[in-house]
Amino acid sequence: MLEYNNIFIDGQWVPACSGEFSTLVNPATEEAFARVPASHPQDVDTAVAAARRAFPAWSRTSAAERKGYIDAICAGLTERADELASLISQEMGIPVHFAKGIQVNGPIQGLSIFGNLAHTMEEERQEEGYLVVRDPIGVCAFITPWNFPLFQVIAKVGPALAAGCTSVLKPSEQTPLACFVFAEICEQVGLPAGVFNLVTGKGSVMGDALSTHPEVDMVSFTGSTEVGVQIAKAAAGDVKRVCQELGGKSPFVVAPGANVAKAIKYVVKDSMFNSGQMCVQLSRVLVHEDQYEEAVEVARTVAESLRIGDPTDRGTFLGPLSSMRARDSVVRYIEKGVAEGARLVTGGPERPEGLERGAYVKPTVFADVTNDMAIAREEIFGPVLCLIKYRDEDEAVRIANDTEFGLSSGVWAEDRETQLRIARQLHAGQVKVNGPAFSFAAPFGGYKKSGNGREWGASGLVEYTEEKAILLGG
Ligand code: NAP
Ligand code: MG
Repeated sequence: MLEYNNIFIDGQWVPACSGEFSTLVNPATEEAFARVPASHPQDVDTAVAAARRAFPAWSRTSAAERKGYIDAICAGLTERADELASLISQEMGIPVHFAKGIQVNGPIQGLSIFGNLAHTMEEERQEEGYLVVRDPIGVCAFITPWNFPLFQVIAKVGPALAAGCTSVLKPSEQTPLACFVFAEICEQVGLPAGVFNLVTGKGSVMGDALSTHPEVDMVSFTGSTEVGVQIAKAAAGDVKRVCQELGGKSPFVVAPGANVAKAIKYVVKDSMFNSGQMCVQLSRVLVHEDQYEEAVEVARTVAESLRIGDPTDRGTFLGPLSSMRARDSVVRYIEKGVAEGARLVTGGPERPEGLERGAYVKPTVFADVTNDMAIAREEIFGPVLCLIKYRDEDEAVRIANDTEFGLSSGVWAEDRETQLRIARQLHAGQVKVNGPAFSFAAPFGGYKKSGNGREWGASGLVEYTEEKAILLGG
């Protein structure tokens, strides 16, 4: 049993004042493998007070100094990349060989970009009669989910460090392990006490303490729309800045006449990655009626070729879902899809063969889905793909935008003009054209109920600042 006995507050490892612990369960084996402190709202108080005390000095450090700390943290994370990948794989089920890239090396790259952007905090804009400068916003509270445990943390702590903000992090109860490593590295590189604080435990217990604390200036949340709304309401009383990265139901438009085989192969693999537990999952695939049956066959073949099983095996493409609770919820959606009259092309609610334990769900493809079905409207958060038929490009765009979300989207088309014509019409924070890699520099965030604010790169950093105009009289 891996045991973390303390949380990290004011540069010290201290016990949570509840004296209690929560247990982590490996979703591949259903066995408990680690325990961490279950913090209490009083720990939030102590942590916020430490962040508040640290803020004045930290906010006055030079950008070069902050970049130095960020680079040192990147080096520390790189040294422990294998350990981080293994911890993340055990706590949420992603195959360990994928975890190293997307869950660890990717975020390290994103963090180093923030280091390189720190100097922009010192840029001033001289205009006619006034000067514009930027200040760090202050003390930040972070609440993050379980599907990308380190990635989501660095999307917030990275810009906070670069801007000169201090923070208190509460990661998902299910996936706190990488955060302990992160805190150990902060300590090791000599990050000043109180600049980064970690409290682990339940959102339902500590959420309010974080989002209503009078000494917190900004709350950044990633997770479900329901909790995101609750946090924004709680934070409104103090007029805190609230950034929300919430759910999605993202469309993928295969343009009429596009190479269906390539497009569908890409989107099936992309949407089944991380067992489909991605807020940016391209879960609604829109295909022209003339190419629809071809698309269905390609989707079946590709989905059936994906290996599901042990996340420590290098040949595995899909591990288990992150918990048995998540599995139950996805299975219910698959049953609902069948009941709604969608055509089950492959997959289904039964356990994959040979996997009697663990939170496994078969990669599942539905055809003949209409955009009014629950499986097309609600976020499933699992390896489930919906194929929707359209008659012409205008209808494809209309169906793509007919959703309450707007986080990601995708287009596959053979020429730049068609790609951009469709991309410009989609109501979403990102459009992926012909299967690009994730960018840790490009702005990321949601339209509509997918959220407010942007993460990563220069746009992500701006969220952590206040803009000040100094009007110059005589
Ligand atoms: P969730 O239930 O909303 O949990 C997210 C975080 O909020 C966790 O740390 C959770 O803590 C905490 N929390 C729960 N109840 C709270 C409360 N009353 N007050 C304050 N915090 C509270 O979401 P999830 O089920 O873990 O994650 C899946 C959802 O996140 C999906 O909807 C997905 O789309 C979304 N997501 C969005 C993005 C994005 O970038 N837009 C990225 C990843 C995930 P506990 O773990 O202790 O419950
Ligand atoms: Mg939850």
